[in-house]
Amino acid sequence: MMIPVRCFSCGQVVADKWEEFSTRTKTNKEDPAKVLDEMGIKRYCCRRMLISHKELIDEVVNYSRK
Ligand SMILES: [Zn+2]
Repeated sequence: MMIPVRCFSCGQVVADKWEEFSTRTKTNKEDPAKVLDEMGIKRYCCRRMLISHKELIDEVVNYSRK
């Protein structure tokens, strides 16, 4: 599943942030909000893009396990 290249609301490119965000939250179990702060993603719309994409993937993974 691919993350959209740009934030729907403000147009900032988020696809290039996804890999780091995903690795740090999933593999390193870091707090998503903290990771976004450290990556300099301050706008709520862009944060929401990454967080909702992560939740979407988590849901798909859980669903396919059932
Ligand atoms: Zn945005």
